[in-house]
Amino acid sequence: NLAPLRRALLSVSDKTGLVDLARALAERGVELLSTGGSAQALRDAGLDVRDVADVTGFPEMMDGRVKTLHPVVHGGLLARRDIAAHRDAMAEHDIGPIDLLVVNLYPFEETVAKGGTFDACIENIDIGGPAMIRSAAKNHAFVTVVTDVEDYGDVIASLDANDGQTTLALRQRLAQTAYARTAAYDTAVSTWMAGAVGADTPRRRSFSATFKQTMRYGENSHQRAAFYTDGTGRRGVATAIQHQGKELSYNNINDTDAAFELVAEFDPVDGPAVAIIKHANPCGVARGATLTEAYRNAFDCDRTSAFGGIVALNQPLDEDTAKAIVEIFTEVVIAPGASAEARAVFAAKKNLRLLTTDGLPDPSAPATTYRQVAGGVLVQDKDTGYVGMNDLRVVTKKTPTNAQMADLLFAWKVAKHVKSNAIVYVKDKATVGVGAGQMSRLDSALIAAKKAERMAEAMGLPQPLTIGSAVASDAFFPFADGLMEAAAAGATCVIQPGGSMRDDEVIAAADEAGIAMVFTGMRHFKH
Ligand code: 5GP
Repeated sequence: NLAPLRRALLSVSDKTGLVDLARALAERGVELLSTGGSAQALRDAGLDVRDVADVTGFPEMMDGRVKTLHPVVHGGLLARRDIAAHRDAMAEHDIGPIDLLVVNLYPFEETVAKGGTFDACIENIDIGGPAMIRSAAKNHAFVTVVTDVEDYGDVIASLDANDGQTTLALRQRLAQTAYARTAAYDTAVSTWMAGAVGADTPRRRSFSATFKQTMRYGENSHQRAAFYTDGTGRRGVATAIQHQGKELSYNNINDTDAAFELVAEFDPVDGPAVAIIKHANPCGVARGATLTEAYRNAFDCDRTSAFGGIVALNQPLDEDTAKAIVEIFTEVVIAPGASAEARAVFAAKKNLRLLTTDGLPDPSAPATTYRQVAGGVLVQDKDTGYVGMNDLRVVTKKTPTNAQMADLLFAWKVAKHVKSNAIVYVKDKATVGVGAGQMSRLDSALIAAKKAERMAEAMGLPQPLTIGSAVASDAFFPFADGLMEAAAAGATCVIQPGGSMRDDEVIAAADEAGIAMVFTGMRHFKH
């Protein structure tokens, strides 16, 4: 059994709840030590505080870089209370025990997220805080370490229930939380630095993340789940603001991410674009003269699947588009902003979630992706591959017209975001058939064409929209059959990586069918 908690060191950047906690400690006879700004906040609240500088005999110096880095502090945190030699060392060097440490760190992640300069980010790397947290957590057999404002209440409750001491179980849990915090913090620093100094290689990445929220369940209701931010501050679903609707689910978050990453490929400078996602695959992507038209064009690709979908916009949501979207049930809308009128339209739909950001994600910004396998993690560069008109090689007798070229490049961008094997038919900058995730490329081509047929019937069109379309294949056609299926569906031009052993056969089949075909020399597998 430990003696009652006697001395606490409080050093926090986020001062939320600090005064209440300190007052509760003071009322329980705990002496308060603190650093500059924290001490000031406590004094302002009328509490009795001793400066750490007074304890160490050194002033805070170098713009706060050195405040608590001193044996008197770390000795007080690290000394084992049950070993005579440790107690002797304390006595010899006049080191008083520190029983409770309350620290939260310089707001490094926030500084990165708000686009702080290189120097501002460097200055916001906390040194003494993590050092103290690690000391206290190591010595949790005797010391209580608190790094999360959410835990303040538990500490006081534990003191009251246990004669002025915390329980070992609580100290263990808090120590684990503390190491999770310092690990995530250093990872955030390393991740930011990798980008800032351009040393981002999969070989040198560490990864951990900061808890953001729990979800009611995971992909299925019997799976528990939580959402973490990765410290990069990247624009996207993790950093978006939710304006309305119930909590996002695991699948919502996954799909919203897919939707926003896809629509961000379409530069708003070239006009509005909309992507509708179901189960992480697009069921409609389109441009339009207006955002509303883009939405309607995207919706027309596969009206059946769009029900209950996730909609991403490359421009701020406007009132007309909001009205079009609420015509059917939609789970989530994400956009780089929303007008007040649009938000008023959505307000009537209580369950519809609206997320906004201050801009689009940058599809060309280098990043790293992770995927778990049993006993390991696969790490790779994010697929930032891009092909423009000048990267294409025409391999057929026919050359695509300008309009065909525009549709081919559109289809190629969409195909990058469709699970392999991906086949995407596009006409007039709108998808008209998407075949996703099949084990055979031929099946993806067939399914996409079949869906287009069904949609034509449902919409009372004389023929499927795939007639006269452009088609993209995310990887090469290994045989001519997939290409011939696309031709049968009415495609008149093809974009694909090329590089198959049977390219000659595929090119011959294209020429035979009177199709224009271009090779990208780059593939976009997505599994
Ligand atoms: P305060 O607002 O009390 O002046 O500063 C509190 C912050 O200083 C906390 O975020 C804490 O982690 C940090 N801190 C405490 N000691 C040191 C130190 O020696 N060096 C640095 N860089 N930060 C420290």
